[in-house]
Amino acid sequence: MRIITHTNEMKAWSAEQLAQGASIGFVPTMGYLHAGHVSLIERSGKENDKSVVSVFVNPTQFGPGEDLAIYPRDPDADAAKCALAGVHVLYMPENEQIYSPNHRTYVVVEGLSEALCGATRPGHFRGVATVVLKLFNIVKPTKAYFGLKDYQQLQVIKTMTADLNVDTQVIGCPIVREPDGLAMSSRNAYLSPSQRQAAVCLYEALLAAKSLFEKGETRGDTYRRAMSERIELCAEAHPDYIKLVDPGALEDLEIVNNSAVAALAVRIGSTRLIDNMTLTRDNDFDGSAC
Ligand code: AMP
Repeated sequence: MRIITHTNEMKAWSAEQLAQGASIGFVPTMGYLHAGHVSLIERSGKENDKSVVSVFVNPTQFGPGEDLAIYPRDPDADAAKCALAGVHVLYMPENEQIYSPNHRTYVVVEGLSEALCGATRPGHFRGVATVVLKLFNIVKPTKAYFGLKDYQQLQVIKTMTADLNVDTQVIGCPIVREPDGLAMSSRNAYLSPSQRQAAVCLYEALLAAKSLFEKGETRGDTYRRAMSERIELCAEAHPDYIKLVDPGALEDLEIVNNSAVAALAVRIGSTRLIDNMTLTRDNDFDGSAC
């Protein structure tokens, strides 16, 4: 595995691969890799000739007072996991390799960026869409892999690539969970043992929504109430939002028909966790394809 830190070197490597007719699979991450990331990397390995993983903690997607300075980092462990998973290039640029001091251009996916996490993290998806487009322009991936764990992020990236005629195919991958159901996340490392136990309430709230869906419940408010009641049972949990939304537009659903996404953001102590579950009666529905 080659480790690349310079953008020009990354661009040259990709140009050479594409000139030889190789396809490039790409997994953009912020590092501190876990089994969720590895599932994306493995899928990329199966579907492409070459795989690139980036580790870059993107400052433009963090707001003031958020966890940019303390975001967990372990480049050596990340490199070991990537090598084991068969990655060809691990791209680990420093900030200056991505943002010049004169950087002025940002990508905004209107509407989708203000829903859900966008309400309390203004500017977050502007930072995400901008860095992903920059990384796509550097790595030139044939296919890029994103987790459904960040459902809204996936919809923002899919919309951005469609709207801007980006040739990369964006692929959504299932959420990987701990044995008790907690969605894997680099931020789980912030949790104390008691907070870690409490954090399972997100998954249990989503299971409550799933159970209502399986019974044929159609009223959006009933779902929201059931999820809130489960979160309220946990003294350490403070919801940021508890939503049932349309899978494509991410707007609140009053009446549930074939498909919906239950989505949560909950603070456990000072750690903000997100999770979601796609609910669908449509066997062909693929939440990753909205
Ligand atoms: P991050 O490093 O948190 O920016 O995540 C990098 C990529 O990994 C994103 O596409 C995430 O959606 C994906 N990802 C993170 N956690 C999980 C998980 N538990 N299951 C599947 N994909 C995940």
